[in-house]
Amino acid sequence: MKDTLRVLHMYPNMLDLYGDSGNMELLSYRLKMRGYGFIRDQYTIGDGEKTDFSSYDLIYLGGGADFEQQLLADDLNSCKDKLLHAYKSGVFLLMICGGYQLMGQYYKDSNGQKIPGLGLFDYYTVASTDKRKRCIGNIVIETEIEGEKYKVIGFENHGGMTDNVSTPFGKVIFGNGNKFGSETEGYTEKNVIATYLHGPLLSKNPVLADHILSYCLSRKQGSAVSLEPLDDGLENRCRSVMLKRLLQTKK
Ligand code: GLN
Repeated sequence: MKDTLRVLHMYPNMLDLYGDSGNMELLSYRLKMRGYGFIRDQYTIGDGEKTDFSSYDLIYLGGGADFEQQLLADDLNSCKDKLLHAYKSGVFLLMICGGYQLMGQYYKDSNGQKIPGLGLFDYYTVASTDKRKRCIGNIVIETEIEGEKYKVIGFENHGGMTDNVSTPFGKVIFGNGNKFGSETEGYTEKNVIATYLHGPLLSKNPVLADHILSYCLSRKQGSAVSLEPLDDGLENRCRSVMLKRLLQTKK
């Protein structure tokens, strides 16, 4: 019997922009196609006491509007110690946009209100109070996955500009990234990917999805797991169209 991955999807009813929940469907699909199981538990405000964060293989937060980020910040902060423990013990953290911002030091939103972050990482984010000043559009970044360069395609829409990023997720080749005209995008560590890329991220970037799955399964089994390839022909044809369209009309 093959393993079952357990994922904690935090605030799915509040943090879910541009199909972000689709990332969970992608993980589920890619596991099931290979005979692995997938369980997604949903975390909502007030669940902190009863939740054993460290028992999960992956913790996921999608993107959200300033309003929702403000609403859930206190609850998220009440889980700080448990989330820190999960992160330190190697649970994979995947965070998109609004979720990315909240794991840093703080997010000063477009109303000038400072939302305290969890402080797991050193970066911080500030939005202009001119609500029209947002990074919006398709984006392509280049990152490295298991020693190979890989282009990650997505869609960004954020007012927050993130600074003090020590280990970015990728180098921007089209679009904005961590702030207007930035050379870097997102934040990463061995068991962390925090990114502004919606898409959903994992449907457009199957190699990235498998990288995350391999990490989680290898950690669970205590030895390297190599996943059998899936037929990503359609995904790869879509990627070629997008890359051609975006990189030939370069910024
Ligand atoms: N509200 C945040 C911002 O505007 C995050 C937006 C998002 O998750 N797309 O920067």
